[in-house]
Amino acid sequence: MAAPKVAVVGAGVIGLSTALCITETCPSCSVTVLSDQFSPNTTSDVAAGMLIPHTYPGTPIHVQKQWFKETFTYLFAISNSAEASEAGIHLVSGWQVFKNTPKEELPFWSDVVLGFRPMSEAELQKFPQHRFGQAFTTLKCDCPPYLLWLEKRLKATGVQMYTRKVADLWELHSEYNVVVNCAGIGAHQLVGDEKLFPIRGQVLKVHAPWVKNFIRDGDGLTYIYPGIHRVTLGGTREKGNWSLSPDPGTTKDIFDRCCSLEPSLRGAQDIQVKVGLRPTRRCVRLQREVLSQGGVKLLVVHNYGHGSGGFSVHRGTAKEAAHLVGECTAALQGSSSRAKL
Ligand code: FAD
Repeated sequence: MAAPKVAVVGAGVIGLSTALCITETCPSCSVTVLSDQFSPNTTSDVAAGMLIPHTYPGTPIHVQKQWFKETFTYLFAISNSAEASEAGIHLVSGWQVFKNTPKEELPFWSDVVLGFRPMSEAELQKFPQHRFGQAFTTLKCDCPPYLLWLEKRLKATGVQMYTRKVADLWELHSEYNVVVNCAGIGAHQLVGDEKLFPIRGQVLKVHAPWVKNFIRDGDGLTYIYPGIHRVTLGGTREKGNWSLSPDPGTTKDIFDRCCSLEPSLRGAQDIQVKVGLRPTRRCVRLQREVLSQGGVKLLVVHNYGHGSGGFSVHRGTAKEAAHLVGECTAALQGSSSRAKL
């Protein structure tokens, strides 16, 4: 059989990292990325890109931990290389603070991030409204540079990338042997997934270079995440809201909440407002599917529905999706050699 042709639909962090893992695990595959939007116009560009996992209620914790660990290890190596600044990957230390002590004092990811420990009394004095806190060091992706870095690596390995909206996966049947669906919230329409819904997030990207440590309220709603050039202030979590228009009232609310955690932010400059739709499900849809139409089959691998934690687990889920693509190409090779007999 000739080199298997694989189409990856979607060019957010999930599509690009999945395409990269496919080139690594299946070098004989010819990989093409098809997407209606590329960076800087994806949800992935809006994200803060912090490696602090979100919990998927429908996925076993040990699986989520494995995805996070693989992603952390991969990005930690980049952060320690000469590629770090181009890829926008850096270590960042800070605090997660709680008004009341949480039921679970040790989150499942506490031994993956670095130096996880309870905050000292002296540290807690900075947050008079909070009673408990955790200090740790994690990684942060500056999202647009990281997406461009992934695109550059894909181009260097010969991956083709085309701007194209796919209305139906069957469009790709005559040209490709395997189709990988990494359409994020677009999968709601593309494959009619009613279990997938948006959680709207509005954030501010500001210039405040003196802010060096992250601060996250344990409720997950208010956060301050310093990047290489700008600080992300968040946020909102609006379930079922499809609006991509920034709301000025929300902007003021986010700014005030962040200033109550870090009063020096009152001096922040050049406030830009961004909105993104987190592609949310009870669990990431990471599975093979064989579509069938009039006796014709189309091999599909789904990898979407990463909700609030796509950056935190992207490499782990991309590796798993690439493994499923490998199973599809092995099945194709098996059936083509049987056909020759
Ligand atoms: P997307 O980035 O939306 O990419 C989907 C791609 O598919 C796009 O290129 C789109 O154009 C394409 N597409 C869709 N439909 C079609 C179609 N029919 N035909 C062709 N192409 C199609 N996660 C973290 O881990 N840490 C964080 O700190 C963090 N902060 C966040 C803050 C905010 C405000 C938001 C909104 C999200 C945040 N997230 C964070 C979550 C993270 O952004 C997502 O989980 C992740 O970006 C999902 O990536 P994706 O590639 O699946 O989706």
